[in-house]
Amino acid sequence: MSTVYLNGCFLPLEEARVPVMDRGFLFGDGVYEVIPVYDRRPFRLAEHLSRLQDSLDGIRLANPHGVAEWAALIERIVRDAEWEDVGVYLQVTRGPGPRDHAFPKEIRPTVFLMPLELPAPPAELVANGVAAITAEDTRWARCDIKATALLANVLLRQLSVDAGCAETLLIRDGWLMEGSASSVFLVKDGVILAPPKTRLILPGITYDVALELAAREGLPHRVRPLAEAELRAADEIWITSSTKEILAVARLDGQPVGDGRPGPLYRRMIALYQAYKHTVMRGNPGP
Ligand code: PMP
Repeated sequence: MSTVYLNGCFLPLEEARVPVMDRGFLFGDGVYEVIPVYDRRPFRLAEHLSRLQDSLDGIRLANPHGVAEWAALIERIVRDAEWEDVGVYLQVTRGPGPRDHAFPKEIRPTVFLMPLELPAPPAELVANGVAAITAEDTRWARCDIKATALLANVLLRQLSVDAGCAETLLIRDGWLMEGSASSVFLVKDGVILAPPKTRLILPGITYDVALELAAREGLPHRVRPLAEAELRAADEIWITSSTKEILAVARLDGQPVGDGRPGPLYRRMIALYQAYKHTVMRGNPGP
């Protein structure tokens, strides 16, 4: 049984209870993070906590904890977790209050952390890639906020589940944004291409790692808006996230991407990523 944290207490998951008047339940009025932890070492903790701060600022909710407090809470969740590799899920909501869209006068945020099992992406998926579909991006105009209100993402992800695919890639007004739960990269003519961080995509931590690794290795890369037509003509498509790491999209909307196999730059990048991850696990923070 997992030990979780809820508002000051560590307790078994089964015993954790939130009041039904919590605004997280009524409105999805909260933000979250998932921090990967390998060999009980948090990966890119500072970056995740900085994005959490940005999300909290985005919803005008004061951060209930400083960085050191968050780090201590995460450490305790990791220590008690039943797995060596975990994703620490943490969520802050605007807490309980009357059912009124307006913020309550007195804010008592709800803070919740739990460990999630974090299996490494299956070798078969790394070797062969995954299938994805595209859909029109139906989300709101602040996708940079990691909000718990994920209804559009849920519906968009289910489209790919229904199609037997691993992800739904989102197109807004003819431009490629990201996946329903991942960032996206293209490769064309040997150049790695990534859409810029705007309010219409989540600033992915894994996205940053991939771009840093590309820069470190001198791999040609550009960050610029990517048109849907470029997605369809790409030599390679990758999706990245803290839980998926980096996966190649081998089929898009039923058509092969490139030759239908993970491409050479994907194979280079996943090797760099895995080596970097292992370096971090040995206690070295940098690329
Ligand atoms: N975009 C969306 C919409 C996501 O849900 C995720 C997963 N958190 C990502 C991108 C990837 O972000 P990260 O690399 O920080 O996990």
